[in-house]
Amino acid sequence: MRFMHIRTRFAPSPTGFIHLGNLRSALYPWAFARHNKGDFILRIEDTDLERSSQEAVDVIIEGMAWLGLDLDEGPIYQMQRIDRYREVVKQMLDSGLAYPCYMSEEELNKLRDQQMASKEKPRYNGLWRPEPGKTLPPVPEGVSPVIRFKNPIGGSVIWNDAVKGQIEISNDELDDLVIARPDGTPTYNFCVVIDDMDMNITHVIRGDDHVNNTPRQINIMKALGGSPPVYAHLPTVLNDAGEKMSKRNGAMSVRDYQRAGYLPDAILNYLARLGWSHGDAEVFTKEQFVNWFDLESLGRSPAQHNPEKLLWLNHQYIQNSDPVKLAAATKPFAHEMGMDTEAGPDFVQVVSLLKDRANTLIEIAEGAKLFYLPAPNLTADQIKENIAEAVMPALKDLVEAISTAEPTKEAYAAVFKQILAKYQIKMPALAMPVRYALFATTQTPAIDSVLVVLGKEEAVKRLSKVVQ
Ligand code: GLU
Repeated sequence: MRFMHIRTRFAPSPTGFIHLGNLRSALYPWAFARHNKGDFILRIEDTDLERSSQEAVDVIIEGMAWLGLDLDEGPIYQMQRIDRYREVVKQMLDSGLAYPCYMSEEELNKLRDQQMASKEKPRYNGLWRPEPGKTLPPVPEGVSPVIRFKNPIGGSVIWNDAVKGQIEISNDELDDLVIARPDGTPTYNFCVVIDDMDMNITHVIRGDDHVNNTPRQINIMKALGGSPPVYAHLPTVLNDAGEKMSKRNGAMSVRDYQRAGYLPDAILNYLARLGWSHGDAEVFTKEQFVNWFDLESLGRSPAQHNPEKLLWLNHQYIQNSDPVKLAAATKPFAHEMGMDTEAGPDFVQVVSLLKDRANTLIEIAEGAKLFYLPAPNLTADQIKENIAEAVMPALKDLVEAISTAEPTKEAYAAVFKQILAKYQIKMPALAMPVRYALFATTQTPAIDSVLVVLGKEEAVKRLSKVVQ
């Protein structure tokens, strides 16, 4: 165990809608591999041709790349390994680990009905299972058989789940699993086993909806001479209403969060805490997460999605971001809103001014409109309505003082102080008209900083129009 080279995988089925909770199942095996200097593999379980889509594969791959969940191997597509699965099915038939079963769908249904009627658990009855001294029914003509795995009889399967503790399932609960369909295509549980073995996976970290598959997978693996990996079954992620996450009840994909102006590191931090903890640490770097990650600290009860907490975390990350990087991340949003970020103040400065009050990049971009939309063209009526006649002399003095002041926040603050004292008025009485004159709104960040960012020349130009 000490020298084990850790290999983990994320093995999504690219079916339906891939929401944020789904990607948590990628994050933990990734972190475990990185923590242990091991390998992380992406395996696309796309054998369900009807439900799998390239769109879902793209969402997964893009989402992982955006979050920085880098791969050592993959994506490996199961559909490209079909020959390998068929080869193993054949070996298992040859060595007696599996057998053909000719029971028809109708017979199976009848058997199930009988079992249900006598309050038994529905299961295949082993009719076609070869045993020493047993005579099998005559092979029906023109019927392609399924291939079934000869599950051990008696005893039980035991594993020490890294999240759920020891689990024991009696072999009597497990019937002989179909590993290949009549047309020869391998089944889901079988492919997983062959892949985990061929890919030397040491730790299977996945959703607990797979707990029921695990004893079957362990049995097949053991029959093939493999030793089962460590299993860690993660409790589900519920939405904020306590239901299973789904598109229908408003779950969002990683792409949706990207479009809504979330930062990938904030999402990663959030997902990390959704079922794992390190003391009471809430905000941590990706490096800290990797350093701290272990299977022992995974939670045992379902995690609940909390959109407010995610927004709060995003705010933390925005506030602490390097302005140059943050500006680069915000630019596409500003462009989408029709701003020309080259025609106006330095965008990095604008972003620095707005970031402390923003929860998302969209909010920053919204705030940036102040500086990139054309100067307001105020009518005489608008001016009259929004700027009291009595404040005009003060405003006039202010424009003059600004035009000769140093273009710094401190100098502008001093100018305001001096004018307020001279006219015996309070800050809002002066700042609100200034804001309105500059932007036709009174909602802006601190006025001295706004003047710095807008630039003295532009500010004086806009203010002069109003005081004339
Ligand atoms: N393909 C399965 C899923 O998306 C995961 C299988 C596994 O991790 O073993 O639920």
